Amino acid sequence: MSKPVDLRSDTVTRPGSAMRSAMANAFVGDDVLDEDPTVAELQREAAKCLGLETGLYVPSGSMANQIAILCHTRPGDDVLVGEGSHSYCYESAAGAVLAGVQFSVVGRGGHYSVDEAIAATKETDKYDHIPPTTLAMVENTHNRGGGKVMAPEPFAAIVDACHARDVKVHLDGARLFNAAVASGLEASAWAATADTVSICLSKGLGAPVGSVLCGSADVIRRAHRFRKMLGGGMRQAGIIAAGGLFALRNHVDALADDHRRARAMAEALSVLPGVKLDVASVQTNIVIFDVAGRPPAEVCGQLADDVLVLPFGPQSIRAVTHRDVNDAGVERAIAAFRRALG
Ligand SMILES: *Cc1c(COP(=O)(O)O)cnc(C)c1O
Repeated sequence: MSKPVDLRSDTVTRPGSAMRSAMANAFVGDDVLDEDPTVAELQREAAKCLGLETGLYVPSGSMANQIAILCHTRPGDDVLVGEGSHSYCYESAAGAVLAGVQFSVVGRGGHYSVDEAIAATKETDKYDHIPPTTLAMVENTHNRGGGKVMAPEPFAAIVDACHARDVKVHLDGARLFNAAVASGLEASAWAATADTVSICLSKGLGAPVGSVLCGSADVIRRAHRFRKMLGGGMRQAGIIAAGGLFALRNHVDALADDHRRARAMAEALSVLPGVKLDVASVQTNIVIFDVAGRPPAEVCGQLADDVLVLPFGPQSIRAVTHRDVNDAGVERAIAAFRRALG
């Protein structure tokens, strides 16, 4: 039997032959000495499509977020995050360890409103009881929130309110292009007003390695030092940056196919008796469904010959579509779901 359809994450994609040949043919140099032309090109193009001044290529989305926290805060500061945000839940407490900040969780389900942001923003008092809020992080789309999109208007309202209070805003845009494609807008509709924005090239865009942190020349200058400090300065990184550049130029529009397939899968799942799922909650490429009282790990095990998915909390399973899964793959997954949960 053929290998199971892998819906564990959109990080499992592998570079195709056109991307590999772009990587093999990339012009490279020592990027620690600022001499890699392909890295420079990727940084320019990423910043341009976000409407920001410049960018910095980094090995991972986690490093991009951590550098952003280091740029915008001092030890002892308070940082606003949405519930389940990547920096708070999945970066091994790096914000506490490396930047020495505390996180305040705001809102429910991943996104938060401008009013919730204002209410959570803390100013220090004269007795120094209160850690000052200096950074708000917004994740769009929200990964744990099921790939949910925050529209540009509520994001802009958060940015304006934060800036009025001297609070910086970092947009964790690991999945920003999913939000853009789902909304029929450019990524710059969100990014242009943020202080820093990170985008991930190795999720839905399908490059093998890397993220780009973008912002003003001033903040990226400081980010450059923190990247060095964290050991993220790389030498002939153009080889991998070329994959990212290829993805940025050629793979954004196809995210719409991932979204269409996720929606089809959600519709098929939602009518199965063993499943609870609100189809309208599936806005991009992430499908989270409740397996109605059965242990999710058991269901995942039962599916594993045909489809790989992951337990997601005590009652749910997460399935993620991506460019290495076509319509036939989604059909096969749906048939397996029907057998296991119908
Ligand atoms: C995956 C992800 C990251 C981290 O990316 P890595 O490259 O795995 O470190 C950060 N933020 C969000 C929202 C993500 O989905």
